[in-house]
Amino acid sequence: MRPAWLAAAFLTFVACGAPEPDDPLRPSDAGSAEGADGGPAAADLSESEDPVDPGDGDAVRIDDLGGLRASKQLRATMVDVGQGDGLVVQLPGGKVLAVDGGPSPNDYIDALRARGIRRVDYAVLSHAHSDHYTGLTPVLTSLVPADCLGRVLDPGLERTEVTGYRDFKAAAGCRYQKVGIGQTLNLDPDVEIVVLSAHAQRFGGTDDSHGINNTSVVLRLRYRRFSLLLQGDAEQPAEQDVATAMPTLLRSTVLKAGHHGSCTATGTTYLGLVAPQYLLMSLAADNTYGMPHCQTLSKLRARSGLRWARTDVNGSVTVTTDGSRYVVSLGRGSDSATACPRDCAVPLDF
Ligand SMILES: [Zn+2]
Repeated sequence: MRPAWLAAAFLTFVACGAPEPDDPLRPSDAGSAEGADGGPAAADLSESEDPVDPGDGDAVRIDDLGGLRASKQLRATMVDVGQGDGLVVQLPGGKVLAVDGGPSPNDYIDALRARGIRRVDYAVLSHAHSDHYTGLTPVLTSLVPADCLGRVLDPGLERTEVTGYRDFKAAAGCRYQKVGIGQTLNLDPDVEIVVLSAHAQRFGGTDDSHGINNTSVVLRLRYRRFSLLLQGDAEQPAEQDVATAMPTLLRSTVLKAGHHGSCTATGTTYLGLVAPQYLLMSLAADNTYGMPHCQTLSKLRARSGLRWARTDVNGSVTVTTDGSRYVVSLGRGSDSATACPRDCAVPLDF
């Protein structure tokens, strides 16, 4: 098989703030924690970050990771877990952050082990749906240290009626901690991780499934000039809430799109505010939901220079960055595939 081709873009260097060790989760500074409607005020996140030049689309080979500085890399992998989400972020200081684990009890943890990951320091469940927590639960049992530090985080929506979620909470045990809007996850001295959205009650949905999707933790990670926005299954009501409360905090180099490429997420206004150079979607081929919906692909195609990867076409996808440049490596195929099963019947947009 020919090597996968990679996307590379050239960014500039910016230093990040000082660490506060031994305090994995802390609220934003007093006075900046409350925005107009409960969200954080626009602290000094995006204001210090100049728009990143998307580059000229130069393709480099998969073995060209040597173009990055060897040390202090951040590596984010969207594992091909089928119809669900399972990501892992290897932070430059060596800590490992798991974000969701997909619908299978084995695929995600097997993929971590295949990558040589023997310890996961922190785990974030975006929201309480089985295509996100099922594969994360065994990671809590096997790879996350068994101390009582706040290592396992989610938005705090209790779903005691669901066996799988009860199992997740039981596995988390004393390591469980609820996260809220405006908190900063202090996991690596060089990486700023801010919670832009998280709801402990069903939010913005007309039915249970959408209402739970919109509780999703939305995380923005910033490492020097690179930034990554992870948003679980957050749909447009949650996107709109963030866009209204903190529009200047959204801009990110890479966006993991909400809800598997559904027409209910990735609003046009939101996409414009995030203005990603590269977008990730996690979904299974031939899924019963018809994802990614053609309305979403149309929006992506309409944005000049935007490229994307999707697990149904590209397998597992890894973004590696030294904070100045980033490289995307695809498990298979070419990026920016435009195939979509169908339009969805009731798209949302704003
Ligand atoms: Zn999902």
